[in-house]
Order: sequence, then structure tokens, then C-alpha cells
Amino acid sequence: MSDTPAPMSPERLQRMAEVIVKIGLNLQAGQDLVMTAPVAALPLVRQIAAEAYKAGAGVVTPLLGDEEITLARYRHAQDASFDRAADWLYQGMAQAFAGNAARLAIVGDNPMLLAEQDPDKVSRANRANSIAYKPALEKISNFVVNWNIAAYPGTAWARQVFPDLPEAEAVAALAEAIYKASRLDGADPVADWTAHNAALRQRSAWLNGQRFAALQFTGPGTDLRVGLADGHEWHGGASQAQNGVICNPNIPTEEVFTTPHALKVEGHVSATKPLSHQGTLIENIQVRFEGGQIVEAKATRGENVLQKVLDSDAGARRLGEVALVPHSSPISASGLLFYNTLFDENAACHIALGQCYSKCFLGGDKLTPEQLAAQGGNSSVIHIDWMIGSDQIDIDGIGADGSVTPVFRKGEWA
Ligand code: ZN
Ligand code: ZN
Repeated sequence: MSDTPAPMSPERLQRMAEVIVKIGLNLQAGQDLVMTAPVAALPLVRQIAAEAYKAGAGVVTPLLGDEEITLARYRHAQDASFDRAADWLYQGMAQAFAGNAARLAIVGDNPMLLAEQDPDKVSRANRANSIAYKPALEKISNFVVNWNIAAYPGTAWARQVFPDLPEAEAVAALAEAIYKASRLDGADPVADWTAHNAALRQRSAWLNGQRFAALQFTGPGTDLRVGLADGHEWHGGASQAQNGVICNPNIPTEEVFTTPHALKVEGHVSATKPLSHQGTLIENIQVRFEGGQIVEAKATRGENVLQKVLDSDAGARRLGEVALVPHSSPISASGLLFYNTLFDENAACHIALGQCYSKCFLGGDKLTPEQLAAQGGNSSVIHIDWMIGSDQIDIDGIGADGSVTPVFRKGEWA
């Protein structure tokens, strides 16, 4: 491990921290904040704490993780360790969220950190963690409090994205890419985000007004009709948590998204970018849907991993999300593969296999799982986004009466 200087200047760290606190979290006076981050992100974490207290935060609690310490467990821990998790910590987080603390996650770890470790130990540790985390995670996925995820350029992550650059240059290049993708490079980033949120809200309001029954995707290797769930609702940009605070859960974010109908997807589709899944790159995915279900799937690389994903459970072969992102989005323009969903899903139109979001239904937070399923909502233990958009994709909205409305032409809003 080397002791490298912060890859972002103090001015840039300050801008990023300000946008995270004011736009990402919209932290309220008196509100506590729980943040998790890799230890490499300490310069940003410190700046965020300062911005949070300036915004009137109650108590800011940072929880730092370290790649070397994670690896030490895989190298040296006794076998029984992999069936355990720090329950007490997650119980504390659940208690904090129940008491209206906001949640911030800074990501930036090596996406391939565990690729070489015993897959059995990795899956046992993940499982134990998921069980322990569940009470806290439910408060986040049910949007009980305002929360945000943002990124910091970790060294190993930077080397993965820029394998041909020397380490310091790779980190600087990733820092630059995160900065641009997160819309921090304008004269007034807080004002830019307010305008960006307004534009996303306008797109989703237009789509909600259209009440399309389906979307038709047409392009090279793609002829796909995605039926939309009954009572689906489009979302994008800032939205309101149950505690009344309007926040931006993801920085960056470029998508407007909704719920497809789990039984009404027909045709074939080709992925336009490789899918990075738990240390494996799955390339040139092509699948065919019948009655909402994937009945044929192939890939030129990582096909066995893809098949395993599809066999996860009954809902893994059906869609839980469809999202629209113009080809001109800053992340798409960067041309990079980030190996991180927070960035890669905002580079292109995408669909997700697996679990749907209840918030993408009108009055969704009051619907039971049975009601969501009756309206076409899919359920699964997985939610995996993959990219199907490019500058060659056309999308039409199909009305209940069969009418056709152009939505995208050559990858841009029509
Ligand atoms: Zn998405
Ligand atoms: Zn998704």
C-alpha cells in the first residue's frame, strides 16, 4: 500500500462534499448522518463531515472499511468466521435510521477485490452480511430516510478502469471522470444539479402523462417489446423520502425508470456494453424473451456466469426495471466502462433482471407484494442492470390502443 496524495484538489473535494450534502442528501438541520466509506476516501469523508456540520447536522458518524483488512479475513480467518457478520453494527444502523438519521455510502473499492478468493467463502460471507443488514437495508430500500451513494477514486478501481496508465495517472483520470460524470465541473454545481433534476422530472412527467402500455426498442440485434406494469410510474432524479426530505439517492444519475410487466416482454435484445458481475466480465449478451421470460441466452464470454445468474430463482429470467438514458449523457460521452453500476447504468438505456421497485407504481408504498405481482411487478433475490442503449437505438411508446409515439431516435429523446 502506498501513501499517495489526495487525487482531488481541496477545491474539488469541497465542491463534491457540498453537492453530496446539499443535493444528494439534502441534510436537514439537527439530522444525524451515518456514512460508510473506504479508508482511501478519508479526505472526502472529512470534507463531508465539515459540510454536514455547516448544514446543521446533529451527529456525523463515519464508518471506514479497508480492502487489506477485508482480504486479511479471507487469508487468515477460521472457517466459522464466514457465517458471521457484525450484527450489532447493522442493528445500530437500523436504530439510527428509525431515529431519522440520513445515510451516505461512498463507494470506491476494487471491483475485483474478491475475484481470486474462495467463491464459497465469498457467498457465505455475503449471505451472513445480507441477513444481518436486512433490517437497516429495508429502511433504505423503502426510502424511510433521505440517502445518497457517491464515489471516490480508489487506486485499485482506477487501475481496473485505466489498465494502461501508471497508477498515479490512472487515479487522476478516474478522479476526473467521476468529477465530470457527477456534474461538478460547471460554474455552480448546486445550480446545475437543480436544473438537471428539473429536466429529469419533466421527462418522467411526460412519460407518466402518456401512460404507454409498452415500449418498442429497435436497433442492431434488438427488436424488443417491453410491456409496462399496470399502474407503473416513471421516476428520475430527486425524489421524496418518507421523512419528507427530497434527496438524490444516486450521484451521478441520468436515468428515468419504471417497472416493466413481468409477463409481457417479447422479442430479442443485444447488450451494448459488457456486464461486470462479481469479478467476471460478461460480453455480447444476446437473449430472447417469450411471455416475459428469457427462453434463450448466450454471451461470447462469461456465458456460464450468465446462466448461473438466470438460474438464481424464478424471477431472475424476468425484468424488474426499464430505464431511459440519452446517448449524450456525460457518462456515455466518456466512453469508459467503470465496472460499477452507479456509473455504468447511467451510460445507456438499460433493463434489469430481477426485483422491481415498489416506488415505480402509483401508490406503490401501500401495495402488498401480492398486489404488486398482480399488476406485473417481478420479484427476485437479484437486481442486475445491463445496457441495451446506443446511438443506434430507436424507442417507440405503444399506447393501449396500439398508437405509436416516438420516444428516442438514434439514442436521443425524440
Ligand atoms: Zn436503473
Ligand atoms: Zn437498476
